Amino acid sequence: MSNKSIQYVNENSERHEQELIEILKVPSVSSDPERKADLLVMAEQLKEEMIKIGLENTQIIPTAGHPSVYAEWLGAPGKPTLLIYGHYDVQPVDPVDLWDSPPFEPVIKNGKIFARGSADDKGQIFIHLKAIEAVLAAEKELPVNVKLIFEGEEEVGSEHLTDLIKEHAELLSCDYVIISDTPMFREGFPGITYGLRGLTYLQVDIRGTDTDLHSGTFGGLVKNPIHALVDILAKMKDEDGKILIPGFYDDVLPISENEHDKLSKLPFDPKAFADGIGAPTLYGEAGFDHLERLWARPTFDVNGIWGGFQGEGAKTVIPAEAHAKVSMRLVANQDPDDIAEKFTAYAQSLAPDTVDIKVRNMHGGFGYLTDLENPGLLAGVRALEKAFGKEVDFIREGGSIPIVKVFADILKAPVLLMGYGLPDQNAHAPNENFSLYNFHKGIESIVYFLDEMGQL
Ligand SMILES: [Zn+2]
Repeated sequence: MSNKSIQYVNENSERHEQELIEILKVPSVSSDPERKADLLVMAEQLKEEMIKIGLENTQIIPTAGHPSVYAEWLGAPGKPTLLIYGHYDVQPVDPVDLWDSPPFEPVIKNGKIFARGSADDKGQIFIHLKAIEAVLAAEKELPVNVKLIFEGEEEVGSEHLTDLIKEHAELLSCDYVIISDTPMFREGFPGITYGLRGLTYLQVDIRGTDTDLHSGTFGGLVKNPIHALVDILAKMKDEDGKILIPGFYDDVLPISENEHDKLSKLPFDPKAFADGIGAPTLYGEAGFDHLERLWARPTFDVNGIWGGFQGEGAKTVIPAEAHAKVSMRLVANQDPDDIAEKFTAYAQSLAPDTVDIKVRNMHGGFGYLTDLENPGLLAGVRALEKAFGKEVDFIREGGSIPIVKVFADILKAPVLLMGYGLPDQNAHAPNENFSLYNFHKGIESIVYFLDEMGQL
């Protein structure tokens, strides 16, 4: 069924590269107010592209910020509906003098295309457009229903996307959400990201007295708030890396045998990793492998700590206050607010009555996990393996993509993260690049994927 489409992909590969170059020329930097018009240009160009390849109900959906672009093809009744999400905005380019070529004048070198937005995320949304184009051109119809939504504010926190999804929940309703905005684990091997960590971020404020005090006049009679703070923080974790907040692990999904097997297949060299970041050796929670610690286990970190005298020379002072910012990376099914409450209760129980303690919940987000047996995920695995001729790497990400959980919750659909970037793609950095091998194989894989999903 997909043979004719694959042939079309191969015959048109050069044109596909040329078209990608054209969209990479548009400087759609969402954080720069002076680029507002360029984002509209980009949205219009994508809309034109969607019309050209045969998508329907094409529209630009305005928001209070930059608009989203929507299109659909719903000619496969009874078949699953896929919602493909991506973003057409890009990161700023500074420091621009560290680029080998201008960020909005795409250059092809060593099989890679260098331009801002090439990997993150224009190259990846183009994979979907070109795959849909190929199937519609070769077969006149798609084996599934598709909806596409490309937003223009991902790089500035997707500020208006949650409201847009809520307001247009009917329009966006689907069986699966597909996002291509993540890197593979290694070059040459396709990957599926099936887990993301969540986050709880807090500030701890300890107050001892109204003002700083002379340590000779008052020392011995008042509790030093910095001491109180470090005592509290020291009790958050034991020497084996286990977090001691009561109830912290209650909702953590254990790592299954299947998952443990899949993760332990990935090559990971602790020595090279440590050397790469200049660490004497790696650290981590006892009883877990490196990648499990990095992706599948929660963490506790002190992000900053301050208080007292930090100037030059000596000042004999007992500071009035001490502060710390702390954060915890969470995994499914931990609830960020529940974790914030547990941390707060524990910190308060540890604080001596000689100081006041305040804990502020600054922000947080849920992690996400796609079931490894999810039929859509398995269809994605088959499609990627067919296109790349290699076994899929099952990967998780230590960071967060908050919008994933928003899609999953509002649309009640599982999210599949099929990413085509590479670990050294320099997203958000100078010399961002996208592998043309991944671009072309990616298009093939989506052709196969549509086919696989049509058979579910
Ligand atoms: Zn991105």
